[in-house]
Amino acid sequence: MKKLLTILMISLFAVATCCYAADKQKVLRVGTEGAFAPFEFIDEKGQITGFDVDLIRALAEQAGYKADVQVMGFDALIPAVKTKILDCAIAGMTITEERKKVVLFTDSYYDAGLYVLVRKDNNDIKGYQDLDGKRIACQIGTTGENKSRAVPGARVTSYNTNVEACMELVAKGVDAVINDAPVVAFYLKSDAGKNCKIVGDLLEAEQYGIAIHKDNPKLVKELNKALSVLRKNGTYNKIFNKWFN
Ligand code: GLN
Repeated sequence: MKKLLTILMISLFAVATCCYAADKQKVLRVGTEGAFAPFEFIDEKGQITGFDVDLIRALAEQAGYKADVQVMGFDALIPAVKTKILDCAIAGMTITEERKKVVLFTDSYYDAGLYVLVRKDNNDIKGYQDLDGKRIACQIGTTGENKSRAVPGARVTSYNTNVEACMELVAKGVDAVINDAPVVAFYLKSDAGKNCKIVGDLLEAEQYGIAIHKDNPKLVKELNKALSVLRKNGTYNKIFNKWFN
């Protein structure tokens, strides 16, 4: 009888450890885009990196997951969340009423907005109000695209990435780019952005959130809890300072 009990206890213990280990291995399938520095971009080694990537890895770990980060086009992210190819998407994604109809969002983790970017030698465009009839480049499926298409008489071209939109500006194919403020500010500090400037004020007050399937409020809760822990224990600030100095 005693022997039987021991065997029973050992097997119970084994099952428990096994479940615990399996639980620790829970993978969080994360989607992001690859050309939105400093939030997400491909580094010299071909690895995806950036503020969002560090943040989601830390959030996942805090919530008991291991993040598996996959790169795709920005406009593919919400469809991939909707079809459950991804558990969540983090890509400097603005929380909008439109998107809230199809996905859930975590609490906001970053305050952003939009800027108008022009070439340095352009003295004609002093802000959003001067874009009427101009050629504007933007990134497909973004809030910057919505803002561009709201300009009366503008000729708007959408590109797959913000990098391509900026290249078109430098090549004089367009007069302006409308894109996220922190990304524009980062671009100006790079070599590629040395001939460009921001004009006008910050347009829109936008907040970034992590998009999650409507069926999965549990994950929203887990990531929100993890975010509040990382904000309190200094990890959020550490990641923030690494990318925004
Ligand atoms: N914040 C913008 C949006 O959500 C752009 C995001 C992006 O291009 N990665 O539409």
